[in-house]
Amino acid sequence: MRNLLTRYIHWLHTRWPAGGVEKLPEVGPDGETSVPGVRIVGDLTGIPLLKFSADTGARAVQAIVRELRGDEWKDGRMEEWKNGNDHAAQPSNLPAFQSSVLDLAIIGAGVSGISAALEAKKAGLRFQVFEAVQNFSTIANFPKGKPIYTYPTNMTPAGQLKLGANVKEALLEELESQRKAAGIEPVNQRIERIERTGNILLLHPGIGAGVEAPVSGAKPSGCDDARQAAGTAATTPVQARRVIVAIGRSGNYRKLGVPGENLDKVYNRLYDPKEYAGKQALVVGGGDSAMETAIALAVCGANVVLSYRGKEFSRPKPENIEKIRMLERDPTARTGVERPTSDRVNTAMDADNAGQHAPGSLRVIRGSNVKEIREREAVIKNADGKEITLPNDVVFVMIGREAPLDFFRRSKIAIRGEWRARTWVAFVAFLLFCVWLYHWKADYLIPFGLQQTFNQHFGLDPGRAWEGTLPHASQPVREYFTAAGTLGHTLMVSASGRSFYYTLAYCLCVLIFGIGRMKRRRTPYVKAQTITLTLIQWLPLFLLPEIILPWLGHNGGFNDGAGKWFADQFFPLANYGHGREYWRAYGFILAWPLMAWNWFTDQPLWGWLAVGFLQTFVIIPLIIRRWGKGAYCGWICSCGALAETMGDKHRQKMPHGPIWNRVNMVGQVFLLFAVALMFLRILGWAGVGWATNLFYLGSKHLPLVSYAWFVDLLWAGILGVGLYFWFSGRVWCRFACPLAALMHIYARFSRFRIFPEKSKCISCNVCTSVCHQGIDIMNFANKGMAMEDPQCVRCSACVQECPTGVLAFGRFGGDGQPILDRIAASPVRMREQPGGK
Ligand SMILES: Cc1cc2nc3c(=O)[nH]c(=O)nc-3n(C[C@H](O)[C@H](O)[C@H](O)COP(=O)(O)OP(=O)(O)OC[C@H]3O[C@@H](n4cnc5c(N)ncnc54)[C@H](O)[C@@H]3O)c2cc1C
Ligand code: SF4
Ligand code: SF4
Repeated sequence: MRNLLTRYIHWLHTRWPAGGVEKLPEVGPDGETSVPGVRIVGDLTGIPLLKFSADTGARAVQAIVRELRGDEWKDGRMEEWKNGNDHAAQPSNLPAFQSSVLDLAIIGAGVSGISAALEAKKAGLRFQVFEAVQNFSTIANFPKGKPIYTYPTNMTPAGQLKLGANVKEALLEELESQRKAAGIEPVNQRIERIERTGNILLLHPGIGAGVEAPVSGAKPSGCDDARQAAGTAATTPVQARRVIVAIGRSGNYRKLGVPGENLDKVYNRLYDPKEYAGKQALVVGGGDSAMETAIALAVCGANVVLSYRGKEFSRPKPENIEKIRMLERDPTARTGVERPTSDRVNTAMDADNAGQHAPGSLRVIRGSNVKEIREREAVIKNADGKEITLPNDVVFVMIGREAPLDFFRRSKIAIRGEWRARTWVAFVAFLLFCVWLYHWKADYLIPFGLQQTFNQHFGLDPGRAWEGTLPHASQPVREYFTAAGTLGHTLMVSASGRSFYYTLAYCLCVLIFGIGRMKRRRTPYVKAQTITLTLIQWLPLFLLPEIILPWLGHNGGFNDGAGKWFADQFFPLANYGHGREYWRAYGFILAWPLMAWNWFTDQPLWGWLAVGFLQTFVIIPLIIRRWGKGAYCGWICSCGALAETMGDKHRQKMPHGPIWNRVNMVGQVFLLFAVALMFLRILGWAGVGWATNLFYLGSKHLPLVSYAWFVDLLWAGILGVGLYFWFSGRVWCRFACPLAALMHIYARFSRFRIFPEKSKCISCNVCTSVCHQGIDIMNFANKGMAMEDPQCVRCSACVQECPTGVLAFGRFGGDGQPILDRIAASPVRMREQPGGK
């Protein structure tokens, strides 16, 4: 039984890749951060590409210029300047400021920093660039002769910087000549942190380093007294009104954190593998850098042990995995690293140019962890927990690089996923608000009568609020709102129920945040999806139950004939509100078991049972087969509507990783709960007494374990919405929704896929980081595999944000060939089409 369950969990959820997401600082439009005046550009915004780096650098300066010039630019001079009228941007047009304070300090002289500097120069800002190592140091460290891909091909980045070269050396020359031509001379200085004091930002230089002569000896750019402004001693902070952080992601190599890691024989870059012929080498890691290092060393005669903590390699390129397997089987295999993709493997090395050395050997120890590094040995713990001592001459730690998070922590710049005291306060306060809101909406009993006290005190009962206002209204107005059959009366009765306000607020959120989403993500797919979700939310989920049906009812539409028959099937008579239960109309859209109330009734409502059966067991499986689970979750459902609109900016907050893929099973438990209750209900209808008693046990005696409270109120309401701004808007949809749990099973038989163009994938992980269903899409894309994780809700964020246009929605046709969707969802692909912009 246990084995069966494990296989089921694997079949449904745990078989899919589950890589994590790198921590990065929180970045808003044009690079804004949580510290006013500080913007982040380049790789640190999440897209590690040259064109995007140049683009973000220039755009951040344009935003700063707008800010600095404030209102005086609203008269159109900004447009003039963008159109090439440099006079509009002369320093005389800037508001006056102290001469010792820079308008702008740029930290980092990489592509984004220099792009920002060129734009600042054009705008006449008083600025300075600070560089810790050398200009364009990341590119200078690329492997010799590395080809350069300038994706997206049809994109023209904002700003002045041109990126035309297609090999490393030519690119470096091209960039340097543009920098020199503009007279931009960075100061050779590492900046340790930024501090905000009043309106001024202080840049604290690195300890022990002085503000040395500019890299090429020329005077600082942009203003004559910039050196003075930049400070004259290592300890003197530089003052600036605005700061751009352009420090990239290079340089911060991840560490093992084990004894001996600081020994001289431990490296994180490979220059010449031939040096290690005949030596005992340990390579640590499971990515392309580790693999290329291990391959090059083994081919050149080293005896290599590759230690990887995972059981299977999932991230590196398949060709590198294949080479590792070949060398494991036969150390003399004719293979090598002809063209390293990793910048940490600085030499190409294959079997032909490996030299005269006897071939080495390669052994992979999966599931292992390094415990200690000693002068002549290395100790690792294998998958069985046994310690193995290996003879060792050299260690290569190739376990990736981290964003320079300490810089941001020191500067008090918020980092995604890191909680501060005020994050906790806001989180708890919002959660408490949701506890109150959902209990208030459901008119649920809160212990000690707190609910009633609260409502009475704040006059929050809407029914009473109406009563209070009408006596003061004029006679015709009073009649309009009280005479049965008028729209006013219908509205008034509906508005005396709490769910009216809740649903109205919900609809407004979907509409307002939906407009924001369409502005942010300008693709036909997002437009069509957002409009559909908004219309469904407003029409069948609000106007139909709250206005249209009751109004028809009050005007005799359901008094006799077919109308009466229809209403009797779907909206039983009630002794409250409009006299019939029109709220059940939610069931036209929200299917069982998401909306269970049309099924869990005292007597069977045959109309709903028929509609529900058709929805849940016929229509939904059919649309999922063709379009995937997202056909419902991403295009119809009201939970999805709020998640895709109000939750759009919070999608990165969804946790990723193997543990969370297991939590996906919570929904299966809730589905089981719903199915069990359904069986009890059917037995109850058939007159089985114990089944009826058991069915009502929860709702009457143990409300906190009842379906109504536990699933519907706690999970779908309080947690579903309460976690929005901290864990993304899809917590309920991904982990707990019982309908989604059923749809995951259907989705395993779907033809829907996200198809990748593997050759364009640069393994940047942007797609994975924006997936608010926690799917590791990159792991499918960089292997050229079609994405088939059943969790996908077709939100299109991965397709839309992929910087190189790798991904496309589609399905397998009857002949097994991919058929791509016609509606465009990727801006890059849109631009790449003939005539695309
Ligand atoms: C191996 C490799 C291959 C790549 N290939 C391609 C490709 O083919 N096509 C493509 O489009 N993109 C490619 N990229 C990505 C591209 O290189 C980056 O997107 C780009 O360099 C990022 O520019 P940046 O200005 O954000 O950061 P960087 O270029 O990393 O520049 C940051 C600068 O800041 C300096 N710095 C860091 N900390 C401080 C500090 N505290 N104080 C002062 N200065 C500091 C650094 O020394 C560095 O010079 C590749 C990247 C790598 C690593
Ligand atoms: S469309 Fe992409 S981002 Fe959205 S749920 Fe599917 S895989 Fe995740
Ligand atoms: S598919 Fe994903 S990892 Fe590959 S380039 Fe696109 S966003 Fe980056």
